[in-house]
Amino acid sequence: MVRETVSEKETYELGFHIGQKAGAGQVYALLGDLGVGKTVFTKGLAAGLGIQEQIYEEGRLPFYHFDVYRIGGVEEMDEIGYEDYIYGEGVSLIEWADLIEDILPPHYTEVRIEKDLEKGFDYRRISICEY
Ligand code: ADP
Ligand code: MG
Repeated sequence: MVRETVSEKETYELGFHIGQKAGAGQVYALLGDLGVGKTVFTKGLAAGLGIQEQIYEEGRLPFYHFDVYRIGGVEEMDEIGYEDYIYGEGVSLIEWADLIEDILPPHYTEVRIEKDLEKGFDYRRISICEY
């Protein structure tokens, strides 16, 4: 599925709709360059799960948000108990998932956000794909 957005609000709303439908144990792998809108999408998804502010345990399902941009190596994920989260009952979302590609679970939803400056500064192409 491909969606195009032309504002932060539209990307947030797309995340919101996906969060409303997210099921237990679902993992979202976000890909895209710095400043493309991964965090905007994530906030929408969290809100769609019913999460307010940063209290990630009080939504419809627990929400586990990983931003692995500064990770040194995949072994750091073991230290934080990564597998307990992603194979748990909550909804997990990983920003910069390509940095931990080797330890993604067998099934996840990839969300790839890309700019196309020819279509405007705020244009984003958001491709969603199930693995
Ligand atoms: P990332 O987490 O990918 O580094 P952020 O979500 O923190 O990026 O920031 C995205 C920036 O891009 C915000 O400043 C936001 O206002 C801006 N922006 C402009 N157009 C869009 C759009 N269509 N979707 C999402 N963000 C957008
Ligand atoms: Mg971010």
